[in-house]
Amino acid sequence: MASTTSNSPTEQPNLSTLKGHIPLVGLTGGIGSGKTAVSDLLAKLGAGIIDTDLLAHQITAIGGAAIKPIQTEFGPEFIDPNGALDRAKMRSLVFAKPEARKVLEAITHPLIRQETVKQAIALAQSGAPYLVFVVPLLVESGNWFNTIDYLVVVDCPEETQIARVMQRSNLPRNEVLNILRAQAQRTERLSHANAVIQNQGSLAELAAEVLQLHQKILQINKGQLSSS
Ligand code: ATP
Repeated sequence: MASTTSNSPTEQPNLSTLKGHIPLVGLTGGIGSGKTAVSDLLAKLGAGIIDTDLLAHQITAIGGAAIKPIQTEFGPEFIDPNGALDRAKMRSLVFAKPEARKVLEAITHPLIRQETVKQAIALAQSGAPYLVFVVPLLVESGNWFNTIDYLVVVDCPEETQIARVMQRSNLPRNEVLNILRAQAQRTERLSHANAVIQNQGSLAELAAEVLQLHQKILQINKGQLSSS
């Protein structure tokens, strides 16, 4: 593999340094479709997983890199007594004021990007056979299409998504529907997929599907990426 370290302090490493050296796989799907379930199974098979949702949580947890700038920009009332982001308060603010969401994202997105690159390089150097970027809004953002070599979409019927999220997050149906409606349509997401994982059966069935996916990704050769 080529050196992936940057040459000067101003030259930020980015994912293009990994392109062509290791398959870069995007993993997306609607809320509750099973992205985490799939990435956990792929991790057990040896894949290098970078979960951007997890990173977003880490940088806003106690001692996270986004805490200070959030406090400066939004005020100390947005940080809870433990020193983590007060998620409920921030959620209400960005729901009421879309411009506040932009300010928050201007803080968090560069930090998530930086950490994504750092983890990706470390996992590639540790010998992972391929990297999987778990990005809930990959299709919506569009930014990832040039970076990844292969896109996996986790899919299940909308009613299954709703039932899973209501149960997991203890949310009322209308709140889950609001989140679903803010995300890309299933058909739009599926139209970009190189591979689709149908997650409407048991976890054992999912594990079998994920094993097949893993074997398929292992066969992806540099410069010979295909969805067949
Ligand atoms: P989010 O977008 O909200 O982060 P996600 O796409 O990562 O969700 P998961 O967290 O993997 O989805 O799954 C949602 C819930 O459904 C979890 O509680 C998970 O354990 C459960 N789940 C996922 N797949 C299955 C399955 N095949 N059978 C039973 N439960 C499942």
